[in-house]
Amino acid sequence: MAPGNTICKESSESQAVESELTIASDELESFHLSKPSFFPGVKVGMSSTNGVHELLECPVCTNSMYPPIHQCPNGHTLCSDCKLRVHNHCPTCRYELGNIRCLALEKVAESLELPCRYQILGCPDIFPYYSKLKHEQQCRFRPYNCPYAGSECHVTGDIPTLVTHLKNDHKVDMHDGCTFNHRYVKSNPQEVENATWMLTVFNCFGQHFCLHFEAFLLGMAPVYMAFLRFMGNDSEAKNFSYSLEVGGNGRKLIWQGVPRSIRDSHRKVRDSYDGLVVHRNMALFFSGGNRQELKLRVTGRIWKEQ
Ligand SMILES: [Zn+2]
Ligand SMILES: [Zn+2]
Ligand SMILES: [Zn+2]
Ligand SMILES: [Zn+2]
Repeated sequence: MAPGNTICKESSESQAVESELTIASDELESFHLSKPSFFPGVKVGMSSTNGVHELLECPVCTNSMYPPIHQCPNGHTLCSDCKLRVHNHCPTCRYELGNIRCLALEKVAESLELPCRYQILGCPDIFPYYSKLKHEQQCRFRPYNCPYAGSECHVTGDIPTLVTHLKNDHKVDMHDGCTFNHRYVKSNPQEVENATWMLTVFNCFGQHFCLHFEAFLLGMAPVYMAFLRFMGNDSEAKNFSYSLEVGGNGRKLIWQGVPRSIRDSHRKVRDSYDGLVVHRNMALFFSGGNRQELKLRVTGRIWKEQ
């Protein structure tokens, strides 16, 4: 593209738009001249593409634009989602929108290669613009959600950040070692609500595991459920196994499973019953006594496969 050319077809009598696009196409030029590999540093590489990147940001919703990219007769661009929302009038100049595609900008996007947005978290990959978003949704370096259940916590981060967050902000019990022995006591076992849950974090094999224990209604039946989640990716979670044993009063139930990655939400794991499920009646047998109090003793072990 020659310098000074406007990026969008059918652009513009408006001075403001003209100059905006001219600046952008200059920056585009410098981007093409500079090979990304020429810059060793992340920031330098990013800044050379910033102008183009801004052009590809929808001025209305600020999301990245993907084809079809639209424009008004004055050259203001907007994404296809926003086009549906603005009742056929350009949000910038109020002019009637019509149905003009911005093919040049779509082509520009096609020619771009950008680093994954999680480069700073360790992702080394570089992607064509149109496949970058898809990669980022699945990037193994993307931050994890806080694994704490039962609250609307929106904290995200890498594993060390989340371990500190669980300890400091959720006051979660932390244990070192690969075996555990827990007692859950409840004085009024008739009350089983979704809101009853407990979380303990185990530190072993240099990794962290979340042991969830909770009471909820499975259909009409009150149940208790315990399961383990691995603080890391699914591929690594599969290297571990765990067993859980619950019992008492001469009765025993054993579960052996594979910890699920915390990429799978607590709810998803629970609703797939991928763990030790104890019906309340059974739990009351385990508790002994007069069925007025729930006393569950759960023991378990985590080990590495191979
Ligand atoms: Zn938009
Ligand atoms: Zn406009
Ligand atoms: Zn990535
Ligand atoms: Zn949290």
